[in-house]
Amino acid sequence: MSGLALFSLKYPSLLKFDNDRADDIIQHNLRSLYGIRNVPCDTYLRERLDQMPPRLLRKTFSTLFAQLQRGNELTPFQFMDDHYLLSVDGTGYFSSHQVHCEQCCIKNHRDGSKTYYHQLLGAALVHPNHSHVLPFAPEPILKQDGNKKNDCEREASKRLLTDLRREHPHLKLIVIEDGLASNGPHIQLLTSLDMRFILGAKPKDHTFLFDWVENSTVQWHELTDEKGHHHRFKFINRVPLNDSHFDCEVNFLEYWETTPKGKVIHFTWVTDLELTPSTIYTIMRGARARWRIENETFNTLKNQGYHFEHNFGHGENHLATIMAYLMLLAFLIDQIQGLCCQLFKEAVIKAKSRSRFWEKLRAKFTDFLVGTWEDMYLSYLHPPKISLIPDTS
Ligand SMILES: [Zn+2]
Repeated sequence: MSGLALFSLKYPSLLKFDNDRADDIIQHNLRSLYGIRNVPCDTYLRERLDQMPPRLLRKTFSTLFAQLQRGNELTPFQFMDDHYLLSVDGTGYFSSHQVHCEQCCIKNHRDGSKTYYHQLLGAALVHPNHSHVLPFAPEPILKQDGNKKNDCEREASKRLLTDLRREHPHLKLIVIEDGLASNGPHIQLLTSLDMRFILGAKPKDHTFLFDWVENSTVQWHELTDEKGHHHRFKFINRVPLNDSHFDCEVNFLEYWETTPKGKVIHFTWVTDLELTPSTIYTIMRGARARWRIENETFNTLKNQGYHFEHNFGHGENHLATIMAYLMLLAFLIDQIQGLCCQLFKEAVIKAKSRSRFWEKLRAKFTDFLVGTWEDMYLSYLHPPKISLIPDTS
């Protein structure tokens, strides 16, 4: 809980958290808001977290998700036929020439030097119509998975999706991923886990597929939306992915958008969703919601007060990874409050930006005795009149 409080309160460093720890007000608030009776010192906190396998936190993520399901809060995320869009992507959160641990991936440079780094694969429910994202427990990308970057990410995605399916056996998912994922073994994995998919596809990786489409009869469709953007679709169902996975059939969608200023954006995807003139527009919007994991999750963690790339301590075993998990957990809790808590929503609007909201919140936390989160948000929305000016009347 102390680790979670560190990220929930958006402390910029463990040292700053440690300096505040002895303060009576802060001890009171950590007890009332997080249930922490004895706040550990930074060294002890690091030592304990270093021993904690990150998988232990999976249960916390799935418990929070189950509460959203029970409260019918997932309805805004429904996309096509009760399915949800699951965006999966990797990101780095640590890199150093010196600091390293047993779990570090290593890049060897020509001059003999090494770069140690950590990456993780994130997965989140996204929707093209709104900016909230709901992350699941991430999966670390480990060095023992293979020598090539692609191998590591692929192995991590196998673990991530298999765990996700075990924990949510009935959740209807459409997985959206980049071009790295549009290969036979990965599509077989998705199918075996009963997950639908929309995956990026690039001509240089799929010469066979693009040639096949070139020599087939395709359908075309175009429309101009109310904002003046022109959308042009070329599509064909049931084409072989490549010659080594000839029986792995996919549906092929190529798409061009021309903005009113004449800028052209171009994508190609493969999917197992049936492509028809009435589904292609929705499928295109779903595919493009993939960016929400990058923009709304990783970039928020890096730039909106969470300090994702700051090194909160590396440890010898799990510390670097568990810190990233705890930060993502704090992010999930904030997303849930942003979806479901009226006071939180109003407070964020009042603060005008997330970063400013965290600042205001931490100021309340450090300076005033607070009993509940509700009081915390209310005191920001309707500040009590406190004056430090001596009464001279
Ligand atoms: Zn490491």
